[in-house]
Amino acid sequence: MARPLPGAPAAQALLAEAARRAGRLAAPPGLALVRVGDDPASVAYVRGKARKAAEVGLRSAVHALPEAAPQAELLALLGTLNADPAVHGILVQLPLPPHLDPEPVLGAILPEKDVDGLHPVNIGRLWAGQPGLRPCTPAGVMALLAFYGLPVAGQRAVIVGRSALVGRPLAALLLNANATVTVAHSRTPDLGAVTREAELLIVAAGRAHLITPDMVRPGATVIDVGINRVADAPGQGRLTGDVHPDVAAVAGALTPVPGGVGPMTVAQLLMNTVLAAEAPAGQEGRGGRFR
Ligand code: NAD
Repeated sequence: MARPLPGAPAAQALLAEAARRAGRLAAPPGLALVRVGDDPASVAYVRGKARKAAEVGLRSAVHALPEAAPQAELLALLGTLNADPAVHGILVQLPLPPHLDPEPVLGAILPEKDVDGLHPVNIGRLWAGQPGLRPCTPAGVMALLAFYGLPVAGQRAVIVGRSALVGRPLAALLLNANATVTVAHSRTPDLGAVTREAELLIVAAGRAHLITPDMVRPGATVIDVGINRVADAPGQGRLTGDVHPDVAAVAGALTPVPGGVGPMTVAQLLMNTVLAAEAPAGQEGRGGRFR
């Protein structure tokens, strides 16, 4: 049976590190959480982030705009937060309501306060192998692998999914860590032939149980990023991953869903806020600001 890779101890270690480093700063790192509208999942995510931020000694504030807020109002708020020296990290909770265009919104955050790592400058820095703030879920996956001492350098890594949020930045992080990387997606023919090559298989497709045991190389490390809500019976929703549970009989190591990658994302967000607060202002271009 595959070695289980629960996220909780790895996330705890990252949170403890964030708390330790936050405590060394003259003032607590400040995190601004921006939310537009009342999507219940977004409300819950933002609340969870604020609660965890307080636990590790960060000062967070939630800025909630009404569902119908015009783009100009959101951009004005980001301008105020950019200019506020007590705010070190700014996160705009996605998805935004359909009338708002996420591209100019994410681009309006100062790169050095972009704790979600989605500003084009940070994406460019990531792909160039330069220091910068990294997207939270992919960086959380790397932290999980490091916590469990799983090798990355020299490994044949396959990622399933090419989203801007997960698959693409993860490909860059794995390349920077010297893995040999393949990115598969919904248009990849014979997905199983590709995934069977993987010593390290990371799945972020959002398709429940897409990966079955026959698609996994025996002994492979399998990281399941997927979060899918499936209904077993009317009114009985349950979360499950992109990896079929039977893969545990083939894989060498496997993350659970829920309780695997999920807790790493929030922990990495808070670590990114500490990194942003640690960096002295005005040194964005010098390359030494971030890990
Ligand atoms: P997305 O929908 O933006 O992208 C999905 C990707 O998977 C696409 O590139 C698509 O080409 C690929 N794909 C879809 N069906 C496929 C198939 N049948 N075969 C091969 N590839 C296929 O999703 P996303 O934002 O990257 O999220 C992916 C999953 O990860 C979702 O379940 C999401 O809920 C989850 N997620 C988890 C966390 C976390 O904190 N654990 C964070 C972000 C996303």
